[in-house]
Amino acid sequence: MRKILVVGAGQSGLQLALGLQSQGYEVTLMTNRTADEVRSGRVMSTQCMFHTALQHERDLGLNFWESQAPRIEGVGVSVAGPDSGRVIDWVGRLDGYAQSVDQRVKMAGWMETFAGRGGQLVVHGAAVSDLDYFSRTYDLVLVSAGKGELVSMFERDASRSPYDAPQRALAVAYVHGLGPRPEHPEFDAVRCNLVPGVGELFVMPTLTTSGRADILFWEGVPGGPLDVFQGIKDPREHLAVTLDLLKKFLPWEYARATKAELTDAAGTLAGRYAPTVRKPVGRLPGGGLVLGVADVVVANDPITGQGSNSASKCAASYLASIVAHGDRPFDEAWMQATFDRYWETARHVTKWTNAMLAPPPEHVLTLLGAAGGLQPVADRFANGFNDPADFEAFFYDAALTEAYLAEVAAPAGA
Ligand SMILES: Cc1cc2nc3c(=O)[nH]c(=O)nc-3n(C[C@H](O)[C@H](O)[C@H](O)COP(=O)(O)OP(=O)(O)OC[C@H]3O[C@@H](n4cnc5c(N)ncnc54)[C@H](O)[C@@H]3O)c2cc1C
Repeated sequence: MRKILVVGAGQSGLQLALGLQSQGYEVTLMTNRTADEVRSGRVMSTQCMFHTALQHERDLGLNFWESQAPRIEGVGVSVAGPDSGRVIDWVGRLDGYAQSVDQRVKMAGWMETFAGRGGQLVVHGAAVSDLDYFSRTYDLVLVSAGKGELVSMFERDASRSPYDAPQRALAVAYVHGLGPRPEHPEFDAVRCNLVPGVGELFVMPTLTTSGRADILFWEGVPGGPLDVFQGIKDPREHLAVTLDLLKKFLPWEYARATKAELTDAAGTLAGRYAPTVRKPVGRLPGGGLVLGVADVVVANDPITGQGSNSASKCAASYLASIVAHGDRPFDEAWMQATFDRYWETARHVTKWTNAMLAPPPEHVLTLLGAAGGLQPVADRFANGFNDPADFEAFFYDAALTEAYLAEVAAPAGA
């Protein structure tokens, strides 16, 4: 039986470990926190996942919270005007629903499932020196430790990383008591509110440790008026600042947030990181090789809500590559080819996310504006969150955008 070590029990590491376990591999999962520590710890993400990524979980029988988590059936986009009104406001419908299950719930549950099925779960914060030893005792070592210190083993790929500094300051608050969206309250949607030059607010329903809740997630341009969360230690102050900024920049969201209360004292998060693509093969001081997974190798800014989706897609792709390789050695060429296969999907996510971090060009503003009057455009944009490769057809190039809008606007049969 082939022995595989997975380091890091997040979306990608757990999905891979559970997938490999079900295929009969001897899997060790090493991670730095117990399931109980994860469950009672701080929120880590907003983790909205779209259809394709959720389907990978279903395929492995891991969709334990699907019936309890809110079904997110649309993506709304609003753009704030100079007078704090909305100059753009529409909702696109998703072909398949999205869901957000608090990673504290999901990762803790999956860890227990892995151990319950006989998997070896080792609670230990791995250092590079540990991996040196393990690379000799396992057939394959996968590093799925997110954006932590172990990324230092993987060289930054400058050709695929246009930014070398964080592009947004992130501030998350999980709340109960948020009122319904005034527009189409009959279905749940993620709301993306863009405040030009200042940042974005994302609002989405989630399933957290205390049941259904909503997340208020500010992404602030560094140094701007939203970049004020860094020194805040008190979660109540974090929420108060979140709400003050809503009142100032997005009064329509503030109107439904006046009764919002934190879900729990660990329901806030603030931070920032530079979006970075890395070389997939990590070289250990003793000569061993390890393969980077998901955020370790491709960490995009959460502005497009893609990281957990990508982690799921990466885990599914790596699982297929591992199984297809049979008993042959997991050498450097195989590691590179495994990443290259995943990059075919991931490159679209990185391109779109990096584009969304920059000020929008004129044709993108035209596209977003047109979606207000052309429902097929709103729907297509929304479904791009599930498959960002589709943006190649109508988003990046002004001529393609123009041709697409003309095609949608043309009367049927013209
Ligand atoms: C504010 C915010 C909002 C987000 N919103 C979304 C969203 O709406 N949709 C979406 O798809 N994505 C979103 N993301 C991104 C998403 O959360 C991540 O991309 C995703 O969790 C990455 O999965 P991963 O498996 O690569 O790593 P992680 O989920 O980060 O898991 C890494 C694991 O490794 C463990 N670990 C770390 N170091 C070590 C070590 N040395 N030894 C052992 N274990 C270690 C950690 O404890 C953790 O369990 C968001 C991220 C942030 C910060």
